[in-house]
Amino acid sequence: MVREPTQAQVRRELESGLPGLRPPRSVVVVGAGLAGLATAYELTNRGCEVTVLEASDRAGGRAYTLRHPFADGLHAEAGAMTITPHCYYVHHYARELGVEMDVADLVDSQFAYFMGGRFFTPDQASVAGSGLPLTDEELSLDVPGMIKRYVTELADELRPDLTAEEWHATPKLLPYDERSVYEVLRERGASPAAIDLMEPLFLEMRGGDLKSASALAWLRHEASPHSLTHADPRWSKIKGGTDNLPRAFAERLRDRIHYRKPVVRVRQDDDEAEVTFLEHGRLRSIRAEHVVVTVPFSAIRHIDLGEARLPADKIEVMRRVKYSSIVRVYLQVRERFWQGKAISYSTDLPVRWLRDATPRTAGPRKILECLLTGWRARAIGAMTEEERVGFALDQVESVLPGAREHFELGTSVVWDKQPHIEGSYILPEVGHEKLLPVIRRPEGRVHFAGEHAGFEPNGGSMTFALESGVRTVVELGA
Ligand SMILES: Cc1cc2nc3c(=O)[nH]c(=O)nc-3n(C[C@H](O)[C@H](O)[C@H](O)COP(=O)(O)OP(=O)(O)OC[C@H]3O[C@@H](n4cnc5c(N)ncnc54)[C@H](O)[C@@H]3O)c2cc1C
Repeated sequence: MVREPTQAQVRRELESGLPGLRPPRSVVVVGAGLAGLATAYELTNRGCEVTVLEASDRAGGRAYTLRHPFADGLHAEAGAMTITPHCYYVHHYARELGVEMDVADLVDSQFAYFMGGRFFTPDQASVAGSGLPLTDEELSLDVPGMIKRYVTELADELRPDLTAEEWHATPKLLPYDERSVYEVLRERGASPAAIDLMEPLFLEMRGGDLKSASALAWLRHEASPHSLTHADPRWSKIKGGTDNLPRAFAERLRDRIHYRKPVVRVRQDDDEAEVTFLEHGRLRSIRAEHVVVTVPFSAIRHIDLGEARLPADKIEVMRRVKYSSIVRVYLQVRERFWQGKAISYSTDLPVRWLRDATPRTAGPRKILECLLTGWRARAIGAMTEEERVGFALDQVESVLPGAREHFELGTSVVWDKQPHIEGSYILPEVGHEKLLPVIRRPEGRVHFAGEHAGFEPNGGSMTFALESGVRTVVELGA
């Protein structure tokens, strides 16, 4: 019998020492993102014969640091960046693997809005002078006050259920999984303009659409210490680039990871599982006792699962799970030509978020990053690389005059088009709560890990990807 541990049990077992494994102890892990790496690392430490098959030529998946084509050793994050003090599994593995942490970029950043062609800040006087169509009550509040009024007070009402250790959607919470974030905010009296102002603080949902995102997933996140509204100087990032974390795992796993080996079929029978992959243009198969599939469901259709003995509800959730569309465009400029230091602007332009991606670098050169989400991301994603960089530069010029004159080079990452990932992070849509237990349920010899297969509905973060890897090790335990 395979165990199906709870979230609290997984953490307790990691803290007290993970269980040994049942023989014969051979496992194939599909994907070398953080979920696959944590799975392979823990299984290897327990004497298991592990083979990791990774389709791309690097480990880390969405923990991906861009080191080219920038000058002067500059780098920028394409995917994961920020770590809260409560990202238990990131801190655990960073400590264990000797990976250093640094203060998060968002700490000390100078946040402002650029809307309707003008700058303003989140304080009451500035917001009231913005000319936005806010209600009378909203005009008397600053943006944190609006968040308190529309979000925190609701999260507080539901807090005992929302933050229970063994979390599940209680009868009190379930109705919120049937409604979108936007609907609930409007019901609570928020004007569309106030929602626009608060939205940057609901970043996890912003990659999609507040009108389709589950209010329950959002409330669970907002009631947790991972909410951006709790950001403080203890928030961190991986020193030198997020990819140092997957690299540290990969160094320990060395020849167990096989790169450029896309898996194309997974099968199982009563005795074994079989994984077929491409190697130098040829098909090869290996057999093992178990398979752990960490491939995001956005890209799982490239794997034939016809003989994997998956029940109909599993196949159905694979089709239903949604991912946010995100594009990040990076513009290297020869020096800081703007006032102030670590700028971070939320705009009403297609370029929704504009920030200095290199706030603490010593040299004169800088990277400005533009982040686009939802339909805007899909639109710019359909452009050529040259068009995309030009489009972003035009927009940045309208916010920060002088951008074009100081521009040196640009590049971008379109997450919907990243091979083998094809999305950014999970977008828990209305009704998502019911999908979660089905997503992570093991099916015979086939196990599922990855941020999408976690316990958290809004699980798009490194810590929950790592947690899902540890969960499969507990499942495989004796
Ligand atoms: C834009 C963006 C910003 C983010 N910001 C943050 C943040 O600030 N903080 C945070 O904690 N998290 C953040 N995240 C989320 C975090 O990066 C992810 O949740 C986490 O890295 C996912 O890990 P994973 O192992 O589940 O999946 P992945 O990293 O996607 O790994 C899956 C792996 O499977 C491989 N694969 C796919 N198909 C096959 C196949 N057929 N055969 C073999 N291999 C295959 C892929 O190449 C990939 O390496 C962000 C993500 C994005 C995209």
